[in-house]
Amino acid sequence: MELEEEARTLAESRLRPSGASGSPTPDEEERPEGSTALVAPPAGFEGDSAGADGLWGLPVEHAERRPECSRCSRPQKVCLCPYLPVHPLQISTRLYIIQHPAEESKVLRTVPLLAACLPPDKCTVKIGRRFSEERDIELSTVCRDSGTLILYPGAEATNLEEFILDSPVYPSTIILIDGTWSQAKDIFYKNSLFRLPKQVELKTNICSQYVIRMQPTSRCLSTLECAAAALSILEKNNNIQETLLRPLQALCSFQLQHGAQIRLSKEYLLKNGLYPKPMPKNKRKLRKMELLINSVKI
Ligand SMILES: [Zn+2]
Repeated sequence: MELEEEARTLAESRLRPSGASGSPTPDEEERPEGSTALVAPPAGFEGDSAGADGLWGLPVEHAERRPECSRCSRPQKVCLCPYLPVHPLQISTRLYIIQHPAEESKVLRTVPLLAACLPPDKCTVKIGRRFSEERDIELSTVCRDSGTLILYPGAEATNLEEFILDSPVYPSTIILIDGTWSQAKDIFYKNSLFRLPKQVELKTNICSQYVIRMQPTSRCLSTLECAAAALSILEKNNNIQETLLRPLQALCSFQLQHGAQIRLSKEYLLKNGLYPKPMPKNKRKLRKMELLINSVKI
């Protein structure tokens, strides 16, 4: 039975149209969790059909999603609720997470863990790529509120810690974008609504603890880590960060114990000649890689 499932998984992974699996950037790839990690093609493994020809004839069915825990949204067998606070954290800041649709289906998501730690009225997740004033009245009101911030790094952004020292209005809401770096950039720049709130960034030297998903650099933080850092600053309470990071640490340690590998950052791999894929031919992408090797902020 197990073998059948493995075969089906392998066959499915090969039947995806080449555009879907053709050239994901490393930070978009994700290693399936736990025991299934062994049957997934390794990172960078594409195209070579040797040994799998016989699997083409197998019927292709969509793998059924395993039953999920209603609180942490993890498969029930690997529920992380013991690492969540018993009661949702009492915070006054409202968090809005703008989630790219591709992020919702990923196995190793951090937003459900974050949401499970917060009161439902303090954490709103909006899924989509485009938002308009007319269709998204609620979001539009939030973006127009002078107490709303958006966390997105860049030349226009102010360091959050410095901002709250001088701000005449204490921030009541913070918006975060959840997706890969390119998805977040697309969402931020293609929605004029997100240019309305004050743009802030985190100036921190902490390295990501989300070691099972590759980030462009080790200083790029997952959405949960960004939210944890931002909320601890806004709420002036470092315990918040500690509490929110606990389920992420448990998730990573579980995955590592079950065959996942530490995903070194793209920056580290490039600098040490370990990047597993050919360098891109596209000049713009190549330039980005060069900037990463030279540690220039992109
Ligand atoms: Zn759970």
